[in-house]
Amino acid sequence: IDRLDPLDRALVERRAHVLGPSYRLFYREPLHLVRAQGTRVYDAHGREYLDAYNNVASVGHGNPAVVAAVQKQMTALSTHSRYLQDGVVDYAERLLSTLPAALDRVMFTNSGSEANDLALRVARYTTGGTGVVVTSEAYHGTTSIVSDVSPSAAAGPLRDDVIAIAPPDPYRHDDDGTVAEAFAARVAAAFDRLAERGHRAAALLIDSIFSSDGVFPATDTLEPAFAAARAAGAVVIADEVQPGFARVGEAFWGFARHGVVPDIVTMGKPMGNGIPVAAMVASSQTLDPFGAAVPYFNTFGGSSVPIAAARAVLDEIVGRRLDANAERIGEMLRDGITDMAERFDRIGDVRSAGVYFGVELVEDRQRRVPASGFAQDVINFARDEGLLISVCGPTSSTLKIRPMLTYTLDDATLLLERLDRALTRSARAS
Ligand code: PMP
Repeated sequence: IDRLDPLDRALVERRAHVLGPSYRLFYREPLHLVRAQGTRVYDAHGREYLDAYNNVASVGHGNPAVVAAVQKQMTALSTHSRYLQDGVVDYAERLLSTLPAALDRVMFTNSGSEANDLALRVARYTTGGTGVVVTSEAYHGTTSIVSDVSPSAAAGPLRDDVIAIAPPDPYRHDDDGTVAEAFAARVAAAFDRLAERGHRAAALLIDSIFSSDGVFPATDTLEPAFAAARAAGAVVIADEVQPGFARVGEAFWGFARHGVVPDIVTMGKPMGNGIPVAAMVASSQTLDPFGAAVPYFNTFGGSSVPIAAARAVLDEIVGRRLDANAERIGEMLRDGITDMAERFDRIGDVRSAGVYFGVELVEDRQRRVPASGFAQDVINFARDEGLLISVCGPTSSTLKIRPMLTYTLDDATLLLERLDRALTRSARAS
């Protein structure tokens, strides 16, 4: 903090006096942002950064179509879902058209946490069980129900009716059989263990790109796990808060890369490009028992303005074929980072889908020892070079790189140049 500019230091201090201590700032030298446009953000000293991390403004910071839609709706009408409104019905129809036909009902919330909270209530109501299986570093949100199934953010040990299992990680997989079979066996064993403890199965809840676990975007690995969960009597919930809305490219949803259909899907983050809006989508079969018994009203969920934002975002993605752009930019970046792996032996594994990258850093490739300190150096040097990225995984040694869906080839070239310089400086410093 002593190295900080006096203006920033004063703000860090004022912040510490008024905000709760659970909040954590990014970077050794916290970044003081004042504005953003497109793929760039700007700090209080006029410096420009290429944003390769923000998974909310995925159709670009200050996207003019979204801004105009929000302003127009705010002026015309802003009210909740107990009145008949065209917007929410139009949007629900269009959203469902991006999903498999079996997923035929939407309920709107304000955050991914609330969407997962509702999904768990539905799963528990429908199955009559409470047992939930998640992955070991999973993060699903902040409500009390959802933090109980988020091992990476839990305050203490997991509840007796929640079990966390290792994710399907091809890089560290050394069991017999395929990654998919091994993951399914862990799912089955976890539900068996819950049954032994006297807990009936409610849900297998997974982030379909395993973001907090370290980004595992392999295709075709989830089918046996879904089957194992259903055999145990659980419903399957795909948390699409991170991979959804074309971040994974043309598949559009993370689960779609695996050729599976979940019973419930949750989504949020990029859905309103900065306006809080999130949703739970379910099959009627899963949702109807809950819907018949439990009334649900959410003041802002499904209200006019967030829905206008969500409609504009979907128009941008579909109308401008940003899913195809994500695919194209993703391939270019993947080639560039794979080339870097030939020059930097600290790069152990490069994983990606669309414009979501996990670049796992290791002390040496043979032993695959996580290079956590090195990863911290890389993200801090990247900040210094004008590139915003972060880390994830159990040892925070996997670079998490999430450019916007609107990246141009020039943006992608700049990302690669700056990442290269950050890796070079980190290698020199270590
Ligand atoms: N699920 C996943 C996979 C997430 O990454 C997050 C947020 N980081 C959430 C749920 C919770 O979403 P929100 O912060 O909108 O409540």
